[in-house]
Order: sequence, then C-alpha cells, then structure tokens
Amino acid sequence: MADHNQVWNNCLEIIKQYVKAQSFKTWFEPIVPLRLEGSVLTIQVPNKFFYEFLEGHYVDILKQSIRTEIGEDARLEYLVPRRQAATAVAKEKVTPSFNKAKRDPDKIKNPFIIPGIQKLKIDSQLNPTYIFDNLIEGDCNRLARAAGVAVAKRPGETAFNPLMIFGDVGLGKTHLAQAIGNQVKSTFADKTVLYVSSEKFTNQFIDALRNNAISDFAKFYQLVDVLIVDDIQFLENKIKTQDIFFSIFNHLHQGGKQLILTSDRPPKEMKGIEDRLISRFKWGLSADLQIPSLETRMAIIQQKMTSDGVDLPPDVLEFISYNVRTNVREMEGIMISIIAQSALNQRNIDIDLAKEVISKFIDNISNEITVEYIQKTVAEHYDIPMEKLKEKTRKKFIVRARQVSMYLAKQLSNKSLKHIGGAFGGRDHSTVIHACKTIENMLENDSRFKSELSDIAKRLKNSGIDFGEAEFG
Ligand code: ADP
Ligand code: MG
Repeated sequence: MADHNQVWNNCLEIIKQYVKAQSFKTWFEPIVPLRLEGSVLTIQVPNKFFYEFLEGHYVDILKQSIRTEIGEDARLEYLVPRRQAATAVAKEKVTPSFNKAKRDPDKIKNPFIIPGIQKLKIDSQLNPTYIFDNLIEGDCNRLARAAGVAVAKRPGETAFNPLMIFGDVGLGKTHLAQAIGNQVKSTFADKTVLYVSSEKFTNQFIDALRNNAISDFAKFYQLVDVLIVDDIQFLENKIKTQDIFFSIFNHLHQGGKQLILTSDRPPKEMKGIEDRLISRFKWGLSADLQIPSLETRMAIIQQKMTSDGVDLPPDVLEFISYNVRTNVREMEGIMISIIAQSALNQRNIDIDLAKEVISKFIDNISNEITVEYIQKTVAEHYDIPMEKLKEKTRKKFIVRARQVSMYLAKQLSNKSLKHIGGAFGGRDHSTVIHACKTIENMLENDSRFKSELSDIAKRLKNSGIDFGEAEFG
C-alpha cells in the first residue's frame, strides 16, 4: 500500500507547478500528511483558518493532485489540532468541500448555451459566504446596505431599480451585491438569481457573437428575475456589449425584474458608457460605500477572526484597525499574513508580529495619531459612546470627555484647530481653544485629574503608536 508521505510528496510536486513559490511556502509546506486509508488521505493543517484558506483558494489544485496520485475516488480529510488543548492531540475533523458531491465549476462556464435551459436550472453563480449576517454595518455603508435589504425583501418592487452600488475597490460592493442575491434565493425559491461580472458578461457575449448565438445569449439573460452585474465600469468603451446589455436591461426592467449593478465610480463619472445607459443607471438608487471608520474596521476584523476561530488579542486588533485604513480587502490580506506567519513560525500573535507584517504592506506605519483614535480612547475611558463627543449635549461628564479629547488631539495629532473642531460635530476653532485652556487649568490645579489624563495617554501609547515624548502638565 502506498505510503502517505510519498503520496503527499508527489502531490506537492504537482501543486508546486501551479502555485507561486511564496504561496507554496506559506500554505503547503506547513501541511503534515498523517495517513492514507484506502483512497482517503488525511492531512494536518495548523488551524481552521488555514483549512478555510486552502479550501477557498486551492481546492481545485488539491483535488487534481490527489486524484492524479490516488485515483478518481480520492478523498481528502483535514485534521486541525485544537488549540486550547495544549496537552494532547485533540483534533477536530473537517471535511473539504470537494468530498461532498459538488458540481464542477468548470462545467458552467457558458450557462447560456446549455441546450433547452429551464428557468430553475440556472446556477446563480453566487458565493454563499457573502451574506448580510457577516456584512458589518457602519456609517460607511448604512444607506447602501439598507437599500440592499429592502431590495432583497421585494426584488423588482421597490424604487431601487436598478440598485447601483459604487465605491472604491475592496469596500464591499461584491459582498453587498451577492448578499442581496443570496437573500433573495433563500426567501424566494422560485426566483432566478444570476450573478455575473461584467467581464464575464463581455466574454460570453463575444463567444456568442462568434457562435452566432446572440439570441440565445439575450434570451438566457431575459429569464432572470434578479440580475447582478458586478463592476460595470468594465463595460466602458465596449459599445456592442453595451448595446446588448441595454436591451437586456430594458427587457428585465419593463418586466419588473430587479437589476443590481456595481461600479468603482458613480454613474456621472463613467466615461465611454453610452448616455442612454448612464441615464438608465440613474433611474433607481445610487448608493456609495466609504472607507469604514475605526470602530467599524474593528468590528469587521473581529468578526472575521471569530469566524475563522482565531483569537486576536485586543491590542493587536486595535493596532491593525488603526493602521490599515485603505480598504477591507487589504485588512483581510494583512490578517491572513499575520495568521500564516504565526502558524509557520510558531509565534504568538502580538503587536510586534503585526507591525512586521503591516510594514510589508504599508509604506510607513502611521506615526501620527488621528483625532478619531483619540476620541475612541477617551470615550472608552469615560465609558460613553464615541458619538456623544460629537453631539451637542452639555452633560458635565460628556463635556469633560469632549474637552479632554480636544486637548489630547491638539497635543498629539498635528491637526489644525479647525480640523479638530470639525471632528467634534462641526465645532469651530474657538471651542477647541477654550477646551485646551480649561484642561490646562485643571492640570495645574488638580493632581488627580493629571494622573487620570496620563492614564489615557498611556492607553494611547499602548496601542503601539509612537508619538514621541508627549508630556502632560
Ligand atoms: P469590492 O467588490 O468593493 O472590491 P468586496 O466586496 O470584494 O469589495 O470586499 C472585499 C472584502 O472585504 C471581502 O472579503 C468582504 O467580505 C470584506 N468586506 C467589505 N466590507 C465589509 C463589511 N462591511 N463587513 C464585513 N466584511 C466586509
Ligand atoms: Mg468586487
């Protein structure tokens, strides 16, 4: 009988040819083959996150390699050591998706030429992991998300048709669009949902042109109840594709079907898209996604980590959220690297590790503290919601917290008085000056207050942010 080490080594040889060296090192070298029983190969991966990452990114090549080595009925099983059980070998077994009878993704490349298509047979092409439950809500996406929920409840029947979601890369457009699709699918069994990137749409159209199958192509799309077209900016300057899309759009819209479109820019900034199409895009609702605030970023990371079964120490969570402010995808990339580094080198996840990883992604880890971060820390110290600092309330302890935040912001952030005032619900610079004077007075006369303030300052410093030798009082 074949030896599991040998079999796995052969698999690795195959995998190596398809996977970049760095990824191979990160994701495949740490795997330990455990046994081969019949056609079932069992491998051990460092943690559940690892397993999910392999499943999400390398399932095809894994499948191909073990089938080559073991045969068509080859199966793979993962073992994940349970982390808390330091004593022994408590293992958790997880089954990879390809053991379950699953359709072959290659077989659905060109859904529109499946002969004799029936309405219900259309595969939605949705990723079932993008759902509303794990789409964290924040100021950055409140309107778009709410519109999405409304559309999912009554597809084609709200004023949000089309629903146009726009925003920079990595801010959750695809996630939101797919969440709507998944929600519709689970609520309305009879509705056909189809997700397509505009790139794929374009390629299908070109194929159809080549095969004289334009009318099949159009008919296929006209069967759909909810059509999601992702990244429509990709249709720019593709006049013929735009034409067919225009006619599909009209057909669906007139029939009360729902359209959901995403783009990296608002309709008015799209160049190379026909005016008649742009004006269609404006019929419904355009909602944008913004960069999430610090608190929302923390909530997003927290959630991902929890669902991956990784405990992230709170200070590391804050450190990452504070330093990575570009987009959510980049945050995810950094988290993956941190976890992989920690698994590979048997290191604890701590600020140092986070710093090392982040510095590879980001040119200069921010040395400058933001007003937002100060507000958050002060609000936590006084145990009040951060929003209160921006409101008009005159309650004494809130006024105090607000003044402390303004003072610290002035001392630590390099921001102008005007900027600081603006960050507190649009107050003007004289309010900030007044706050600073008040706090300076108190520091001189009240030693308890002085030590309170230095506690807060310590907290800010503990976040790993280096802001020099600030002195208080
Ligand atoms: P886009 O399509 O705008 O480029 P994606 O939808 O692909 O962005 O989002 C990038 C990643 O960030 C995805 O993994 C997504 O799940 C995640 N993400 C974005 N926004 C949120 C959010 N509000 N809550 C949870 N995850 C989010
Ligand atoms: Mg996207």
